[in-house]
Amino acid sequence: MYNSKSPKAEEFISHEEILDTLAYAEAQKDNLALQKEILETARKAKGLTYREAAVLLYTENAEILEELYSIAREIKEKIYGNRIVMFAPLYLSNYCVNTCRYCPYHHGNCNIARKQLSQEDIVREVIALQDMGHKRLALETGEDPVNCPIEYVLESIKTIYSIHHKNGAIRRVNVNIAATTVENYRRLKEAGIGTYILFQETYHKENYEYLHPKGPKSNYAYHTEAMDRAMEGGIDDVGIGVLFGLSDYHYDLVGLLLHAKHLEDRFGVGPHTVSVPRIRPADDVDLTEYPNAITDAVFHKLVALLRVAVPYAGIIVSTRESEQSRAEALALGVSQISGASRTSVGGYVEEEEENSAQFETNDTRTLDEVVGWLLELGYLPSFCTACYREGRTGDRFMQLAKSGQIGNVCGPNAIMTLKEYLEDYASPDTAQKGEKLIEKEVEKIQNEKVKELVRAHLDELHEGARDFRF
Ligand code: SF4
Ligand code: SF4
Repeated sequence: MYNSKSPKAEEFISHEEILDTLAYAEAQKDNLALQKEILETARKAKGLTYREAAVLLYTENAEILEELYSIAREIKEKIYGNRIVMFAPLYLSNYCVNTCRYCPYHHGNCNIARKQLSQEDIVREVIALQDMGHKRLALETGEDPVNCPIEYVLESIKTIYSIHHKNGAIRRVNVNIAATTVENYRRLKEAGIGTYILFQETYHKENYEYLHPKGPKSNYAYHTEAMDRAMEGGIDDVGIGVLFGLSDYHYDLVGLLLHAKHLEDRFGVGPHTVSVPRIRPADDVDLTEYPNAITDAVFHKLVALLRVAVPYAGIIVSTRESEQSRAEALALGVSQISGASRTSVGGYVEEEEENSAQFETNDTRTLDEVVGWLLELGYLPSFCTACYREGRTGDRFMQLAKSGQIGNVCGPNAIMTLKEYLEDYASPDTAQKGEKLIEKEVEKIQNEKVKELVRAHLDELHEGARDFRF
């Protein structure tokens, strides 16, 4: 029985409700009147229900799709402007007791070198990341209570926050580790993490169980209810996502939206971010086993639908996507991207060994190249980490995001953090493009007082001061 407020996975992600939704939506495939009505609802930027989003997912009408993309672009512009938040993943350990069939870190893969960063290694990796200009990290580990216990993760977070190399600093550490207990989530919260991220991989229970045959992650309910425990542990910014291509994407999109609704209905706070990775080639992973792998066209349709269905949530794409695919996704609604990522343990210091990465990256450009590229496309790359540091998390953040007021702080913060990047790390060419954009962006600030303050801070940043924020 479907119940969005239930704490039980099988009730808030009800298989019957998803099947019923998909059957209903598919039957509306040619109902253009209904699709147009849903587009009008989407245009208000207040979100869509999972049923409404599913109806648009089934449409193949070119005109409706064009309209959907144009509304997604409008909402993106209205809520996020041209800002794109930058981050990098940091792989701490690839020891893993799980057996996820699609991941080369699975327990049975003997081809891969198993590594765990020592605290000294972490210092070196973080300095390398700071020297590129990164301020925001996403920590990644496999699941292994012996080789990678929670104490190790907590110590690593402390180490990362303590490193200040030249003008560098990591100001926000998001954490992507296996589902754990309320007590461990509380400890992560106390360690000062930003967002807790956990991908569901797929919401389809039967497929989930096939894809995760052994290990703690094989427990569908425990994994699916992780965000509830995280919220109970006091983490109010959570990031959800599926690995598109594992199951039918229609099913997983509805599952994702049911999960977002559940968090909102039960805790009053929807997901802070939604990630949209899709299955990629990797060592010991045979892509022919994944007939559900999605095309670029479907991927971009999913991004646009997520943008209109959950306008308040940040949408993240990684370097799994190519430069071209990322450009398209950025226009349709993506608000955060990683840059210069290494997906192996220790990869920022050592040359990446081909067989130790979690997945192949498609976009292999340097951070400076990615920043320069964003500037050329008219985007404002942002290294902002202000909200969590100002206590704007959970429902406080959501209220600002939903009312659109968050943009009043995001804009100035993006300008000032980009300026820091240009002063400390950019190539002359990127610096020149960036300074030009900053001039334009400052002019756009409507509040005269804020504009004056930003101008003053830009001068101070040029003189060597750092870390201003609203
Ligand atoms: Fe381990 Fe995560 Fe890979 Fe699964 S997806 S094998 S839990 S690292
Ligand atoms: Fe993100 Fe807050 Fe910074 Fe805006 S002000 S970019 S929401 S951290």
